Amino acid sequence: MEHNVDYYVDGVIAGDRRVLSKTITLIESSLAEHRQLARKVIDRLLPRTGDAVRLGITGVPGAGKSTFIESLGSMLTGNGLRVAVLAIDPSSSRSGGSILGDKTRMEKLAVNDRAFIRPSPSGGTLGGVAGKTRETMLVCEAAGYDVIIIETVGVGQSETTVASMVDFFLVLMIAGGGDELQGIKKGVLEVAEAIVINKADGDNIARAELARKEYETALHLLMPYSPNWTVPVLTCSALQMVGVDTVWQTVEQHRQTLTASGELEEKRKSQAQDWFRFLLDDGLRNWFYSDSAVKEEIPLMLQRIAAEQTAPTAAAARLIELLQERSG
Ligand code: GDP
Repeated sequence: MEHNVDYYVDGVIAGDRRVLSKTITLIESSLAEHRQLARKVIDRLLPRTGDAVRLGITGVPGAGKSTFIESLGSMLTGNGLRVAVLAIDPSSSRSGGSILGDKTRMEKLAVNDRAFIRPSPSGGTLGGVAGKTRETMLVCEAAGYDVIIIETVGVGQSETTVASMVDFFLVLMIAGGGDELQGIKKGVLEVAEAIVINKADGDNIARAELARKEYETALHLLMPYSPNWTVPVLTCSALQMVGVDTVWQTVEQHRQTLTASGELEEKRKSQAQDWFRFLLDDGLRNWFYSDSAVKEEIPLMLQRIAAEQTAPTAAAARLIELLQERSG
């Protein structure tokens, strides 16, 4: 990659899809020089970010996420909007195989000029993958995408990670499971802006409606996160495109309400600050543990703690002092 910062910045701003893809590849690279270049590119693009609707979607495998995104994306692009679909798939970093990527998904959107689909970056920790997706989101915004959809599977920690980078977090459910069966934890409901029961079609309409009422009752027990927003429980059929428009109206209504109250701006600011703190913690930890003296001392300390020759508090303090002295 012998291109300079201007090449990436100008290409992204011009909406050049090839350059956009290359920029994301740069972001996903683990080479130090690529990371450095990527940081410069993102810094330059930052003033052009922030205008998009940031929508997160989670749900267990089979809940209908890709069908829903295909329907919503087609509707939005049909209305003239540009839509980017990104994914965080923690399974792809662990096993090489992925829950999200192993089938042909979103076939219509994949060939739509107004849509841009990028699969989950693979490799690394969830924090690492999330960081790359966050930066990719910013670059897509600078490239003029109006709606950024970030998808994740409803397993593990990835839901709260996605919730921490979007304006609106949507949990897609199906009727007849009960939330344990669907693998959705209470913590996920707590960060949701809306719950949507999918597959409300054919024989399933009555069951979906029943599930809707149950979730509504369950949500009443949670503290509302904003006096201005009550988390709605909706039903839809992603397959038949029924109710998808109502879901989008809800997203727009949320945006209007929280923009007017100033909460959306606050939310984005504190998300960015939290991200900064996370990066600092992560960076400090890496720096500390990669120090050769620390690497040498830790096993010795562990032995001495086990032999009750030193207290854990004293051992930890000594290691940190050691590094403080060395860094001057
Ligand atoms: P994902 O794993 O969450 O992305 O789920 P998919 O979008 O791949 O959907 C899983 C299966 O459910 C597919 O066979 C879809 O055709 C089906 N499906 C998705 N949405 C609906 C819906 O609204 N109604 C019905 N009846 N089937 C649906």
